[in-house]
Amino acid sequence: MLLTHAHSDHIGAAEHLRTAYGTDVLTHEEEVPHARREFLHQVTLGKVLARAWRPGVLPWALGAVRSGGMSAVPVAGPRAFPGAGALDLPGGPVPVHTPGHTREHCAFHLPEHGVLVSGDALVTGHPTSRLAGPQLLPGMFHADRARALAWLTALEALPAGTVLAGHGPAHRGPVREAVARAREHASA
Ligand SMILES: [Zn+2]
Ligand SMILES: [Zn+2]
Repeated sequence: MLLTHAHSDHIGAAEHLRTAYGTDVLTHEEEVPHARREFLHQVTLGKVLARAWRPGVLPWALGAVRSGGMSAVPVAGPRAFPGAGALDLPGGPVPVHTPGHTREHCAFHLPEHGVLVSGDALVTGHPTSRLAGPQLLPGMFHADRARALAWLTALEALPAGTVLAGHGPAHRGPVREAVARAREHASA
């Protein structure tokens, strides 16, 4: 199991799969303590509720709480990527360092398939966003939004025609265009 980052909505099943099936859980070395919950850099309920007047925020927040979004989901034994470059796994996924959403978020590029698994570095929709298509998540979700925006450069040159994002539908089209759309929205 590859983690782009250690937010609860991305690791909820990891500890179960690790303990029940012995599945290895891999992530960037700086996300390892995050997944262990030695610290948690995630939007707080207070921060969300302060924005409850915005379209979509309150229904989304209620849904997230109802779905267990407030429960602790630490992963006891995550491991860091063994080294730089492609991982020795089916599809040869290549971690692409894209910090900003969390301190050391990584996307995964599958060069053989022309697919980018972008995690929360680049999404294609979210219940709290009125935008459709490639975009950054709303500001409250990022540890450092400016950094997330700047690190889109790490994605734009990747040869991939499909973006599978952490939130929103699959996006077909060159990653370069998807990044350009996200930048346009961010500066609008
Ligand atoms: Zn996230
Ligand atoms: Zn997410």
